[in-house]
Amino acid sequence: MTTEMSKKPIGWNGKTLIEMLEESEQLFDETKRYYGIERLSLKEKDPFRYERAYASLRGALVSARETALHVAASPIVKEIGELCFALYTPEGDSIVVSTGILVHVHTMSEAIKFMIRENYEEEPGINPGDIFLNNDPDCGNVHTTDVQTLIPIFWQDELIGWAGGVTHQIDTGGITPGHDLVAAIQRFDDGVYYTCRKIGSNDKIWKDHMINAKRSVRTPMYWELDEKCRLSGDLMIRDAVLRFIEREGIDYYKRFMREAIEEGRRILLERVKERLIPGRYRSAGFFDLPLKDEAWQPRAKKNKITNMPFELLVREDGSISLSFEGGSGPGTNPMNCGRGAMEGGQWVLLTQVLIYGDKVNDGAYYGVEKNYPKGTWCNPGDPYLSYQSPWGNLIPGYTSMMKCISYGLFSRGYREEVAPGYGFTGDAIQGGGIYVSGPLKGQRWALSTFEISCQGLGASAVRDGLDFGYAMWNPEADMGDVETWELFQGGVPYLSRRIKPNTAGFGKYRGGCAFEGVGLVAFSKEVDFFGARDGLCFHGAGGMHGGYPHGTGYRLYVRKTNMEEIIKKQLPYPLGDWSPSDGEFEKYLEGEIIRKSYCSIYPVTFENWDLFYHTQSGGPGYGDPLERKFELLKKDLEEQIYTKDVVECVYGVIADHDEEAGEWRIDEEKSRERRTRMKKERLEKSMPFEEFWERERNKIMENKLSKHVKTMYRESMELSEKWAQEFREFWKLPDNFKIEEEGK
Ligand code: MN
Repeated sequence: MTTEMSKKPIGWNGKTLIEMLEESEQLFDETKRYYGIERLSLKEKDPFRYERAYASLRGALVSARETALHVAASPIVKEIGELCFALYTPEGDSIVVSTGILVHVHTMSEAIKFMIRENYEEEPGINPGDIFLNNDPDCGNVHTTDVQTLIPIFWQDELIGWAGGVTHQIDTGGITPGHDLVAAIQRFDDGVYYTCRKIGSNDKIWKDHMINAKRSVRTPMYWELDEKCRLSGDLMIRDAVLRFIEREGIDYYKRFMREAIEEGRRILLERVKERLIPGRYRSAGFFDLPLKDEAWQPRAKKNKITNMPFELLVREDGSISLSFEGGSGPGTNPMNCGRGAMEGGQWVLLTQVLIYGDKVNDGAYYGVEKNYPKGTWCNPGDPYLSYQSPWGNLIPGYTSMMKCISYGLFSRGYREEVAPGYGFTGDAIQGGGIYVSGPLKGQRWALSTFEISCQGLGASAVRDGLDFGYAMWNPEADMGDVETWELFQGGVPYLSRRIKPNTAGFGKYRGGCAFEGVGLVAFSKEVDFFGARDGLCFHGAGGMHGGYPHGTGYRLYVRKTNMEEIIKKQLPYPLGDWSPSDGEFEKYLEGEIIRKSYCSIYPVTFENWDLFYHTQSGGPGYGDPLERKFELLKKDLEEQIYTKDVVECVYGVIADHDEEAGEWRIDEEKSRERRTRMKKERLEKSMPFEEFWERERNKIMENKLSKHVKTMYRESMELSEKWAQEFREFWKLPDNFKIEEEGK
């Protein structure tokens, strides 16, 4: 019998995995190039072979993803493809990734490195056919909802890499049903945690694991389907890599993986040099957490604005560094972000705006320096907090990054690439219930719609944003079929899905518009419902060069309705909330109509016949709305993007609906007059910057900032002396200046 210590190392040339990882890190530190690679010798010698090699691996991953999701998958995964696969080096650097949720270019990398650093090679062992599962945000994941399956790939007795797949679950067994749990405030609320656990061997998932896992969540069938989906994709990738090695040779593969990553790094530098101008870019982002009257747990009953000041440094060599210095602290809420979340948010953005089109891999990771200050929302350093819904903070944080990149793109002349921000991919309606009738009586259903992957896109500097067709953070951009969602959440038939007017950010080029929906609770008991997104604050740097942010979210639901009677008598019922001040809900329904000005709510319990409403987010606008062309506004009115009053008040355009002709007519003369008048009024109301600065400074000096803004700045100043100093310098405040809070 052999002892653990006498096991032959599984790394290359007799090395252990830890030795390989250390060598790789040392080579990068010394040379600042991946694995110290100086020349892309394979590419130089035979570029066709090299490109074919990359394309064949990329093709294998895309095909594994497409096939796996049809083999087995839960509704979110199957309907819109909320999954992604990647191939890694033995040390855990991604070589190539599939299409899908590109959030995970680097997340699984951190999980592999965690297993190497923890010496999994020795114990529990890394053998051919082993299967590992991870969903711990403290070691390379975004939130417990994203579940990763990783398998090692061996050639003879050497580990030559890892295949990884990730899917987003409908339910992970947290404090309430759902997948981004607003009510979670500590790790133990986040659902089941698998911290890089071995869950199978010989290509088979262990039975005891599956029994345990299925009993840990509310949707055991979907969990099992997704585990099979990820494993089958991983196995297809492993087969493709082994075929690749048979074709090209092991020496070629070993060299190829290093060069492909180094090329990925160089591509990032080239793209940055080509697209951005060196310098220091800054932007601000915020997220409102109005949980004082929402939270159940006494210590979570707080209203908070999270501060996310952002800085991007673009260097002449094309490398970039980013910093969240001055950010607020973490909190008793699920929006705290671990490193995996921060990397995930960054990669989904960078792959779409700077490193698209060619070698997308961890090479780019090595081209970016980052500062996630310890003790803030983006690096709390406390694994016992909740990390269940990091997107609440991530989205504003990285939307600010896009604003910075947009200034760079604009300066270089890439006006069509500008995006002043994105719709908040937030109001995924969530929850679940239990069927009380039908063939599934007694079983649980989960609100599984993933319509959030279709928000309004921000305008560019040359055209309007795409309407309800894009989400930076879920780039599959597919809202799915209502019929499919209904099939899996039989407890909530849709009453409508339609355009939501006035959600598009105003501008010469308007932001993309959002859509709304009404759901009816039926055939169920014990129905929980909740959701979250920006409500009281514009979340991240919305609008640019005179454009406005998009409309924020709000909450609307109705209890104790007369829907049963309405349906029996075939009377009209609400199909949306077209005009909240003259609402269809109030017009058609009897019942307890609840409207909240904010959007993030703890779960509420519904009975059958109750109704809920949800609206996705529009995108921010670009340029002065008074410069928007008349014919575009006519089109906006025809398509119900804006209502008549908004067109008049914001865009200065007088329009009337010609009932006979069935179209909108713009009175151009009156509109021109109105615009001239509005510009004059603006001049009268405006003030020079010096005056504005003076006014705002007085507010700070006289302690007249609003309560939550005071708390926010005070916390930022306490957490970062650097940021505090800059704040004091900008506002010319005394050296020892501190913001005083009420009751402190
Ligand atoms: Mn997720």
